[in-house]
Amino acid sequence: MEIQMIAEHKDYKAGLIPGPTNLGLILKDNKVLLIDTGLDRSYGKKILKTLTDAQLTLDTIFITHAHADHFGAGAYLKEATNCNVYAPAGEENIIREPSYEPMYLYGGAQPIPQLQNRFLQAPPLKAVPIKDKIPNWEELDLVPLPGHTPFQTGIALADTLYSADAFFDPEILEKHTLPYFVNINSTFNTFKGIVKYEYVIPSHGQPTRDINNPIKANTDKLETIFSEILLVLDKPLTTDTILSKLIKEPINTATQFFLLRSALQAYLTYLYQEEKISWHFKDNLFLWERI
Ligand SMILES: [Zn+2]
Repeated sequence: MEIQMIAEHKDYKAGLIPGPTNLGLILKDNKVLLIDTGLDRSYGKKILKTLTDAQLTLDTIFITHAHADHFGAGAYLKEATNCNVYAPAGEENIIREPSYEPMYLYGGAQPIPQLQNRFLQAPPLKAVPIKDKIPNWEELDLVPLPGHTPFQTGIALADTLYSADAFFDPEILEKHTLPYFVNINSTFNTFKGIVKYEYVIPSHGQPTRDINNPIKANTDKLETIFSEILLVLDKPLTTDTILSKLIKEPINTATQFFLLRSALQAYLTYLYQEEKISWHFKDNLFLWERI
């Protein structure tokens, strides 16, 4: 693991630890505020060694949203260092009770055991819910970035933004038929707010100084998905049939299936709100239709 420093503002320095989940790092003297933790305990151990080798002390962790690849190492780091842990109010409850994630993906019921895995259910972590400022780190701005999850929140230091999963790096976007957003309206609003930042660090992929470019790629991707859904709906179809027609590559795991299905429901809700599609029952099937 390596620490890369990227910006400075007043007493603060901003950096990151690149990886499968890019971790944000804000330094005040030798104290560290860590933005997200990565997936699991072994990742947590590597983080701690990297910080210790650089003679830095983990003071505070801020979790951007309640997905396992963002807070899975949190419980280990808190136990090892007794650091402060904060999370956005609204995400904190799932971080504290991570069994909710496989449960909500499964429609609120007890999920099949294949969904209770480390990618969907991290070890529980007690975080203090916050909305405005991070105690002792008041110069940082909390920036609401809803869309990928309902209460996802990023951190800005002047014109540098840690944007979590508010948008996806165009290279990653290409590999996903249905990028995971749970509220498309919020996602578009979040895109509008992000473009004012000069330097943006997403949790996956490359930091960018040209935010308009990835935001355009993300917007185009969503527009393409809307067209494809409308094209597929040449007759009334269930959610699952729409999914099977949209997704070209084989779905191999229950995790993939339920994540895709959850995202598809968000796209369908958006098209319903836009009065492009409607729904009705036939033979007790819930069917979507084009208007
Ligand atoms: Zn996420």
